[in-house]
Amino acid sequence: MPGTATKGVELAQKLIFELGSEGRRGDSLPSNDDLPPVDPAALFGAAHREAPAPLPEVSEPELFRHYVRLSQQNFAIDLGMYPLGSCTMKFNPKVNEWAARLPGFARLHPLASDEGIQGALEVMYRLERGLAEVCGMDHVSLHPAAGAQGEYTGLMMVRAYHADQGRSPKKVLVPDTAHGTNAASCAMNGLKAVGFPVAESGIVKVSDIAPYVDDDVAAIMITNPNTVGLFETHIQEIADLVHDKGGLVYGDGANLNALMGRVRPGDVGIDVMQFNLHKTFTTPHGGGGPGCGPVGYKSILDPFAPVPVAAKREDGTYFLDYERPKSIGRLRGFHGNFGMMVRAYAYLREMGAEGLKGATEMAVLNANYLRARLGDTWKVAFDTTCMHECVISDRHLKETGVTTMDVAKRLMDYGFHPPTVYFPLVVKGAMLIEPTETESLQTLDEFVDAMEAISAEAQRDAAIVKNAPTLTRLRRLDETRAVRNPILRWTEPAEPTAEAAE
Ligand SMILES: *Cc1c(COP(=O)(O)O)cnc(C)c1O
Repeated sequence: MPGTATKGVELAQKLIFELGSEGRRGDSLPSNDDLPPVDPAALFGAAHREAPAPLPEVSEPELFRHYVRLSQQNFAIDLGMYPLGSCTMKFNPKVNEWAARLPGFARLHPLASDEGIQGALEVMYRLERGLAEVCGMDHVSLHPAAGAQGEYTGLMMVRAYHADQGRSPKKVLVPDTAHGTNAASCAMNGLKAVGFPVAESGIVKVSDIAPYVDDDVAAIMITNPNTVGLFETHIQEIADLVHDKGGLVYGDGANLNALMGRVRPGDVGIDVMQFNLHKTFTTPHGGGGPGCGPVGYKSILDPFAPVPVAAKREDGTYFLDYERPKSIGRLRGFHGNFGMMVRAYAYLREMGAEGLKGATEMAVLNANYLRARLGDTWKVAFDTTCMHECVISDRHLKETGVTTMDVAKRLMDYGFHPPTVYFPLVVKGAMLIEPTETESLQTLDEFVDAMEAISAEAQRDAAIVKNAPTLTRLRRLDETRAVRNPILRWTEPAEPTAEAAE
């Protein structure tokens, strides 16, 4: 039957606006005959529509099929392994979703009085204590809505700390392996990010930074494990050197999946750091959804923390404390992305100390397993034990004309989300692979099989890899145009002309 195979694709391309017909209904609510009639015009005033919006009229099955179909047109962690290095795309326990959706949490009004939200304040208070314990910090602020905003907040507190002592040092040392957000957070704070090159080994040595450390250093920003997946073994000496000159140490804590339960940044000289709850603490990550980037800090920075702070009275009740004269102020509307805090708290309680340690150990073991097995075919960039992610490079395929992007696209045909490509910048043809602790040995082996198959394809017939992906709904998109010129409105397709119809 010619055409049958393409039918599914056609259907998938049908948008909801083309489905349904006039008068079709998707709801089955009883009428509210017993209630007094409501006059929408009186309720909504000028915002009330004269005529209903021209929305498609569809049945409940049509509506569901539309959304489920859309969800299947994209890759998701719930469909397969998503080894996107630096991003920690782990599977998130669904019980956390249940907890975040409990009506007592999900339906709170952000302007409710402290008395009315005691349970929510208790969750915030306990989460702050829990995160502080995991990281060896004295306090945690839950306000920031992303890792980048956490960095921004932490540096703002560093700036306030120096200003409080009548100093205004301007430099922040940032290794050239750092995430791009580090330099941006400095600039947003009126500080100058001073990049310094990192030794061949991928690890910052005291001699790398010594020439840059002087009285004008406000802080050093250091990611541990760093973005090439290695543990910064000299962190304590680096911290001592910076502290001696009056500077502070900012830890980019986005990669906590490799540390929690094993090493506490606060114990090795870090003064202030952010957490990425949407990476390590099981808030679903990706798709541009809300994030949560709490900042942990030592007591010396406490006076400058953002307001309000969830605090506990002697009588055991909770309140939002605004009485903090040296605070850097408010960072955002209300109190942060609360649903993420509930998920993170549920995760902490579910895992316990042993569980967190176990997650770290599995994440590191999985990454090292991939490093060792992929090393048979691909070039491993830093041939030493890695943390939760490893870097390989595709330089052995250079002669074939196959690019890193081609390899990434081909992986999609094999059912895997590509790893992070072309980052870290210090490695040519880099692929930063983070399997996370939630993948099984079987899945890791399947991933290695796919990578080996792609390497062999590239050498046998490069076109196979260069033409990928072939099995996804769309092939290669113009990613720049998709970002700069997104088409977000549906417009009715033009009627086919007589010629085209023939
Ligand atoms: C993800 C990440 C960030 C930024 O976090 P966002 O929540 O995306 O703003 C910063 N540093 C490192 C090392 C990261 O992996």
